[in-house]
Amino acid sequence: MNLHDYIRDIQDFPKPGIGFKDITPLLISPEATAFCLEKLSNSLQHQKIDKVIGVESRGFFFGILLAQKLNAGFIPVRKPKKLPFDTISASYELEYGTDTLEMHIDAIQPGDKILIHDDVLATGGTAKAVCELVEQLGGEIVQMNFLMELTFLNGRAKIAHMPIYAALTY
Ligand code: 5GP
Repeated sequence: MNLHDYIRDIQDFPKPGIGFKDITPLLISPEATAFCLEKLSNSLQHQKIDKVIGVESRGFFFGILLAQKLNAGFIPVRKPKKLPFDTISASYELEYGTDTLEMHIDAIQPGDKILIHDDVLATGGTAKAVCELVEQLGGEIVQMNFLMELTFLNGRAKIAHMPIYAALTY
């Protein structure tokens, strides 16, 4: 199966000049979703995972599927003021300004083996901020995985010290 067939290019979304990779054709196909889930979980080669982090909001889809498949807990990382309990936060640079991500303060115990999942690795700012959240609580990042890596944006450079896997690349 070629997963590229299930990704749709949308021009000028969310802003003029941006080309957006739409993953909803993949999500609507149970075969493509199952194939992708297998690829993502096989890439771990039976390494033990205690908790899977899914990044708001498209990281939630496969994040929760991976957590179930790996018999691990699921942790949502969210945009500011969405989580109800006490939180820690990490900020990252955008083209104009900054953005912040939050996680519950009790989500990770020191030494927990963590898998970070998001749909897309683009510039790597989001991924780097999530690493900082895990490190603040003493978690051990086993892998960061993505449905898709946009290699031309070189996001890997921001998280160069991490094991990274992407089910498909552009
Ligand atoms: P980064 O911080 O690496 O520049 O951007 C990654 C974040 O932006 C991810 O959370 C991802 O959901 C979102 N993102 C950036 N570009 C795209 C895209 O083309 N398609 C999708 N589905 N998400 C994107």
